[in-house]
Amino acid sequence: MSPAPPSLTTVNPATGERVAVFDALDADGVERKLATAVAAFEAFRLLPSYERARLMHSAADLLDHDGPQIARVMTVEMGKPITQARAEAAKCAKAMRWYAEHADALLADEVPDPVDVTDSGAVGVRVVYRPLGVVLAVMPWNFPLWQVVRFAAPALMAGNVGLLKHASNVPQTALYLEDLFRRAGYPQGCFQTLLIGSGAVEGLLRDPRVAAATLTGSEPAGRSVAAIAGDEVKKTVLELGGSDPFVVMPSSDVERAARVAVTARVQNNGQSCIAAKRFIVHEDVYDEFTDRFTEAMRVLRVGDPLDEATEVGPLATERGRAELEELVDEAVESGATVLCGGRRPPGLPDGWYYEPTVLADVTPQMRIHHEEAFGPVATLYRVATVDEAVAVANDTPFGLSSNVWTRDASEIARFTRDLRAGGVFVNGMTASHPAFPFGGVKRSGYGRELSGHGLHEFCNITTVWQGP
Ligand code: NAP
Repeated sequence: MSPAPPSLTTVNPATGERVAVFDALDADGVERKLATAVAAFEAFRLLPSYERARLMHSAADLLDHDGPQIARVMTVEMGKPITQARAEAAKCAKAMRWYAEHADALLADEVPDPVDVTDSGAVGVRVVYRPLGVVLAVMPWNFPLWQVVRFAAPALMAGNVGLLKHASNVPQTALYLEDLFRRAGYPQGCFQTLLIGSGAVEGLLRDPRVAAATLTGSEPAGRSVAAIAGDEVKKTVLELGGSDPFVVMPSSDVERAARVAVTARVQNNGQSCIAAKRFIVHEDVYDEFTDRFTEAMRVLRVGDPLDEATEVGPLATERGRAELEELVDEAVESGATVLCGGRRPPGLPDGWYYEPTVLADVTPQMRIHHEEAFGPVATLYRVATVDEAVAVANDTPFGLSSNVWTRDASEIARFTRDLRAGGVFVNGMTASHPAFPFGGVKRSGYGRELSGHGLHEFCNITTVWQGP
């Protein structure tokens, strides 16, 4: 007899209270959903693009309507401040509309210049974008709506169908998403949530009826999914961790850079893959930036994420806080200086809170130099030259995005050329947008989400050659 599947639980990170428990799907339940997805694909792939766009618009309208309610669910499930949860819901609806409006043009047939193809003997050549089929999405809890929508909107607009395996601590948001697409009018099976633990992912990946997979999450999870998918020769997109640099040069507006740096570090309680995590500051402005940044981090309002005034809520899981504490403690024992924070806030004993923290004197010998600090902890580095700034910025296993602050055109050109990351944001913080490709290099993963690039990831890019 196979072991009983695990249950999935909402635990409120602000209180530690168990809010809701759901039984995971057993093997028969998973099989039923997969069979439904396969059947749905055969009809959905033939739906005209204007019909797909109509359904996506309908889902966006519903999401706008549901915004306040689903925002509260997210905040209770993973602790993000309620104002940010509402903004996340609104951003998702916007991205759905963007794909509803742009997918047709982005998926239009491409016709190479006839002069270039005459030597192939063709009278006509077209490149057409066809959907792949059932796409499995393994998603994290940190942006529980956005991570899913940025996969689902392009995948569905291309004619694929989706199976969502969401993180085990956000089952209510996961079920909401299935319900959203159902209420929007999508045919049964086009988008389904599987309440399963990570142990059930391998069976799905090995099933020939699953065409491709996308995973957003940690490096170990990515490695595991990529290894199995590689064994099955199956397409994957991986969006993994990040430890983005935030470089501040003397010509920049230091006051603005310090203000934006705080948001870039603590947004979503510091649990964002594209958060700026390493602050690399030129020695001419190091003291000014450090004073401004540290003071602004110190006065952030930490507390109940359902309170409208809260700027930093609890970490999503107790284990996540313990891992962050270990990283900070190890750095401090090895000589790092705590400029603010570095502990649990007094007066908030029940939730998994951690004070916004700034660490100086960080060295490559410390784990925090190479690992991702997934919480409101910033590390500071003092550099003397552009070369040094580039070297420190690239001294990381990750390569998701990067931020540089300078008004010097030659420095902008240099950073844009030499930073090894999937994005370079100049005089601003990294943010995702439906029109920009999103993804990384090195251990941050491969493939791209959003924009036309994200749409094409789950397409069969087909050459149609026609002879005389
Ligand atoms: P995680 O533990 O890797 O979980 C992410 C998802 O993967 C969850 O659904 C999880 O399921 C599943 N999972 C975990 N281990 C697995 C395995 N061995 N095989 C198959 N599935 C597995 O990550 P997390 O701690 O929730 O999220 C934080 C990480 O995600 C950070 O590193 C962050 O930087 C990264 N992230 C990256 C991006 C990006 O776009 N690059 C965006 C957001 C977050 P269970 O919950 O059931 O374990």
